[in-house]
Amino acid sequence: MRWSAGVLVCVLLLGFGFSELINARSFQLGGELVDRVDSTEKVVALTLDDGPSERAPEVLRTLADLGVPATFYLNGSALDTHPDLGRAIVAAGHEVGNHTYSHRRMVFVTPGTVRDEVERTDTAIRAAGYTGEITFRPPHGKKFLALPRYLAEHGRTTVMWDVEPRSAVAAEIADEAVRAVRPGSIVLLHVMYGSGAALAAIPRIVGELRGRGYRFVRVSELRG
Ligand SMILES: [Zn+2]
Repeated sequence: MRWSAGVLVCVLLLGFGFSELINARSFQLGGELVDRVDSTEKVVALTLDDGPSERAPEVLRTLADLGVPATFYLNGSALDTHPDLGRAIVAAGHEVGNHTYSHRRMVFVTPGTVRDEVERTDTAIRAAGYTGEITFRPPHGKKFLALPRYLAEHGRTTVMWDVEPRSAVAAEIADEAVRAVRPGSIVLLHVMYGSGAALAAIPRIVGELRGRGYRFVRVSELRG
């Protein structure tokens, strides 16, 4: 009994450590990873995940009204479905990053799948007219084995985040973000699908943080 209890504890600990490793925001096995930047300046990056979806024009209008540049982590499949929306995001001057082709969890996938997911998405991003460096963000923040190895071998930077509001209500999303942001923060918002609360939170996030002296920049500017 004692022995099996010990095994159980070990298995639980290993499982916990393993899930920490897969989901860690500031560590991965191989390749450069950024979850925020040490900065003495009050700068912050808004990163908007998934899509583009049909909501993209509204997202772009909101950002244009506020004069805020953002960084969009887009999926190759959605870009291939809506090439016009990809072009509109690029034409508006925003940064675009790679969020895989199909948005699958990149854990225990083969090297061939990783290459496919990343490179087909790069191709779609270039087809949208984007010419800057393409950083990578794993779906659900998950990365293990073949993915980090690929990213390291190809000199790709993984961009995670240090601020992720959990609420589903716009005002609370804004409050959570404003409370958590510090100089050099990277904020994650899911604006393309769902209720629209995250998009509705953006004007308040921007207003309150600007009131505290913050300036919004793209991820590439944040990294200097
Ligand atoms: Zn995503």
